[in-house]
Amino acid sequence: MAKQPMLKFVTIDRDMPEKRDATIRNKDFNEIYAEYADAKAKEQASRCSQCGVPYCQNHCPLHNNIPDWLRMTATGRLEEAYAISQATNTFPEICGRICPQDRLCEGNCVIEQSGHGTVTIGSVEKYITDTAWEKGWVKPITPIKERAQSVGIIGAGPGGLAAADRLRRAGIQVTVYDRYDRAGGLLTYGIPGFKLEKDVVMRRIEQLEKSGVTFRMNVNVGEDISFDDIRAAHDAVVIATGVYKTRDLQGPGSGAQGIVCAIDYLTASNKQDFGDTVPEIEDGTLNASGKKVVVIGGGDTAMDCVRTAIRQGASSVKCLYRRDRANMPGSQREVQNAEEEGVVFEWLAAPKGFTGDPVNGVMVQKMRLGQPDTSGRQSPEVIEGADYIEGADLVVKALGFEPEDLPTLWDQPELPVTRWGTVKATFTTGETEMDGVYAVGDIVRGASLVVWAIKDGRDCADAIIERLTAINEIAAE
Ligand SMILES: Cc1cc2nc3c(=O)[nH]c(=O)nc-3n(C[C@H](O)[C@H](O)[C@H](O)COP(=O)(O)OP(=O)(O)OC[C@H]3O[C@@H](n4cnc5c(N)ncnc54)[C@H](O)[C@@H]3O)c2cc1C
Ligand code: SF4
Repeated sequence: MAKQPMLKFVTIDRDMPEKRDATIRNKDFNEIYAEYADAKAKEQASRCSQCGVPYCQNHCPLHNNIPDWLRMTATGRLEEAYAISQATNTFPEICGRICPQDRLCEGNCVIEQSGHGTVTIGSVEKYITDTAWEKGWVKPITPIKERAQSVGIIGAGPGGLAAADRLRRAGIQVTVYDRYDRAGGLLTYGIPGFKLEKDVVMRRIEQLEKSGVTFRMNVNVGEDISFDDIRAAHDAVVIATGVYKTRDLQGPGSGAQGIVCAIDYLTASNKQDFGDTVPEIEDGTLNASGKKVVVIGGGDTAMDCVRTAIRQGASSVKCLYRRDRANMPGSQREVQNAEEEGVVFEWLAAPKGFTGDPVNGVMVQKMRLGQPDTSGRQSPEVIEGADYIEGADLVVKALGFEPEDLPTLWDQPELPVTRWGTVKATFTTGETEMDGVYAVGDIVRGASLVVWAIKDGRDCADAIIERLTAINEIAAE
């Protein structure tokens, strides 16, 4: 079969590892991800055995109808494949790029389980929707009937945007408030462009704007507008604010210049990719160029930081993690990508303090894994007398995120929160104990995944639609 024209934006690390190395230091990251053609998508889709026990579907948080859209792709019926895929997923091309498929759909593919290598479900999902964009099948939402009722959504990340999309489809008026200048939440300012190209996110924002969603950017709820005012202005409110409080490091020297937070570091790099002038990049504060960089942490945020540092031209990049490779929270695929790009991992290594101000080294304690803790994970223990100093001009703290104290910041003592500070809400509907107030995404689950935020936003919107419809019906009686 003749090869189809290439798509511009497709990420398929596993299909094309040989493409990654040469261009890695270039700014044009998208080059790495070219060349996923129709033939490849069909070939992969036709590998699906249509096994009838769709573990892939069951392990996708959205329960995407994967076997059906694979079948449509295999037989060249891409528009139908897109319709099926879009029915359950607000942003299939985004999930296709950044879901940890090895832990979700692909990890549970029966072909993978039988040792023959998974169908690359994520890549096909992305291909289908990228094609849909290219062909003009993705259209702004035009509700059959407009309703006067409105919903205020605080937070323009994937959770808030998925809710906005679904609510607009039902004709409900939607205003999204966000403290950033651009919508997208961590899709825009957290996840780096080499994993998720920014124009892929921005075209979705434009689609929502054209669909009638009002975005009020640079509005920090709690400072620029009160939560009470938002509640008073709408029939329902969705809290989708994510988690942004960085877990900190203690120890001597931890306040030294040159020790920075992952979210600040990644946001600056993403802003630069948008073409913004970023003073902290220009003055070197958040720029790894020519520096010995040490990133502390073992999650996906740490992987994004090390890979960003490589792209900024760091002279060396090391990642310290206090457990071993098998016990790290981040995706193994991401570790492999980072290693291929030149990142050195120091497993079983924890920071004890820092030397110099500006920082010039990390005092590292060597660890071993001891007895399992209450969660069943082995606890790291210090090996006495094995400390050493790791040279560093830039240290990035990537130890995870916690929720901000919303009841205090928003003067809402009644907003129910858990002992971890996340908002207490029913997982299936997002309902909180405050009347008409819902919550979705990371602010409910703690730091999680884009696909879970989308699921929450979708399900919460359905619950709101049901509630507002019932109110309408009562009013009409
Ligand atoms: C560096 C990094 C990399 C990641 N990589 C992946 C990945 O590869 N795959 C994956 O599935 N997940 C990844 N995640 C996790 C994923 O990004 C989150 O789970 C997801 O974005 C959560 O969505 P959300 O809508 O709940 O919150 P967010 O995306 O955090 O959006 C919240 C929004 O609320 C706004 N906001 C907060 N407080 C206020 C306020 N007071 N007033 C107004 N606006 C406010 C914020 O500005 C933000 O725009 C990553 C996370 C990080 C930090
Ligand atoms: S949304 Fe994520 S888990 Fe679900 S099919 Fe797509 S890539 Fe797999």
